[in-house]
Amino acid sequence: SNKTSNTSTLDDAKLIGITVDKAKDFPGWYQQILTKGEMLDYYDVSGCYILRPGSYFIWEQIQHWFDAKIKSLGVQNAYFPMFVSSRVLEREKDHIEGFAPEVAWVTKAGSSELEEPIAIRPTSETVMYPYYAKWIQSYRDLPLKLNQWNSVVRWEFKHPQPFLRTREFLWQEGHTAHLTSEEAQEEVLQILDFYEGIYNELLAVPVVKGKKTEHEKFAGGVFTTTCEGYIPQTGRGIQGATSHFLGQNFSKMFNFSVENPLGSEHPKIFAYQNSWGLSTRVIGVMVMIHSDNKGLVVPPRVSQYQAVIVPVGITSKTSDENRAKINKTAQHIESRLIKAGIRATGDYRDNYNPGWKFANWELKGVPLRLEFGPKDLSEGQVTVVKRNDSKRMTVKLDELEARIPEILEDIHEELFVAAKQKFDSHRVIVDEWKDFVHALNQKNVILSPWCGVEECEEDIKNSSAQKDDGEEFEQDEKSPSMGAKSLCIPFDQPELKPNQKCVKCHRKAVNYCMFGRSY
Ligand code: AMP
Repeated sequence: SNKTSNTSTLDDAKLIGITVDKAKDFPGWYQQILTKGEMLDYYDVSGCYILRPGSYFIWEQIQHWFDAKIKSLGVQNAYFPMFVSSRVLEREKDHIEGFAPEVAWVTKAGSSELEEPIAIRPTSETVMYPYYAKWIQSYRDLPLKLNQWNSVVRWEFKHPQPFLRTREFLWQEGHTAHLTSEEAQEEVLQILDFYEGIYNELLAVPVVKGKKTEHEKFAGGVFTTTCEGYIPQTGRGIQGATSHFLGQNFSKMFNFSVENPLGSEHPKIFAYQNSWGLSTRVIGVMVMIHSDNKGLVVPPRVSQYQAVIVPVGITSKTSDENRAKINKTAQHIESRLIKAGIRATGDYRDNYNPGWKFANWELKGVPLRLEFGPKDLSEGQVTVVKRNDSKRMTVKLDELEARIPEILEDIHEELFVAAKQKFDSHRVIVDEWKDFVHALNQKNVILSPWCGVEECEEDIKNSSAQKDDGEEFEQDEKSPSMGAKSLCIPFDQPELKPNQKCVKCHRKAVNYCMFGRSY
């Protein structure tokens, strides 16, 4: 259809735009922003979603960045089958206990029952480690460092959420084996730093690094380190990515040992192992944090398009000559930017007017809009509008290649600083239980002195679940009275006062733990 009149195009822009307020209906907003922004679509199997090019591109940027980092540590990529026999899956008892309720099983081929049901991997420890045991006989073959980019299936019964909690999700899973505990543990933290890098450097999202409690750690591992994020609208924490030290639990189960470097008269050494994973959940966290009521806001380093050029100000009075000049120069700007390594595109469609195009590209979250019209043509400039704060400025055409990358970097920095300010101001220290639930209801995550005892952790969760002080907090999906879980014991610790008591019980506190309602 030929959109010419202004009123009809504004109505159209409204129709394609977001109709739900982020502050008023966060889940409804999240759903619209993803589907109308063309990131994702819903699918007829509950908990499964389609990743459209806009989000898959982000995943590819993450892959490129992280792949280079792990390869610098000597990690190699490989691929193992998605199917696992029950015999192998159930080899490590604690591990399978942790995953059993979520494992999906194939029981039929066509109409005939399989003799033995086959599981779809929920993670690949037990798939891979029998082969580690087979391949590695000598300590000289260690370390072994493999990673796979794949998908896993966890048939979760918690409320599914696009990206955050899905039944199939894309991730990478790294699995390494080392001769010494020290070497393995060093790598756990290197990987965690890379995860923090993905959040900070690519997605402009702040995280808190720390260690999971015994209760929250990975099933079958020795300890779990994590990057924890924060969603301001709901005040909830979210586990961002995890890097586990598995110790020798799995190597003992799978009889994965090597001869002792000190000689064959010394006992064999079971390998020290790590596993670490980051999933497409990161994209959901990024969307929730930066996007607004006009649509997606995608940080420039991962955005499929970083700048869109839109010719403007062309009316029925514009001469053919000027019209041609404007379009030609706009296209020239586009190609100069592409040459300079910027992911630029131009919108020269003549069946939409500029207002409609602006709304459409804002919906998709492109960081910069470059408007080029008659005035820009005569001044030798282009008008630049930033997606994150709608600020307008002009850039001289001869400074294009220098200025546009700077503005994109500014946007990244501004997004990160704004998100960090929100997280920092909603991470509060609470020493006394009487202040705990109130602080939680103010959409905070909480740092409290804690004894480290598992029953106390359970007590904190239960006691913060009821609205026991009568205070209302925002109804959020299906968990209106969710209690506070331990999110992590942050590496960066506030100083404990001498003889500081646990926030909940009468035991002595051993460190500060971060608690919060969570996804
Ligand atoms: P885990 O193997 O349980 O430590 O999970 C590794 C990472 O995958 C976690 O840190 C989460 O960020 C992510 N993850 C776990 N479950 C899901 C899910 N159902 N959907 C999306 N991401 C997930």
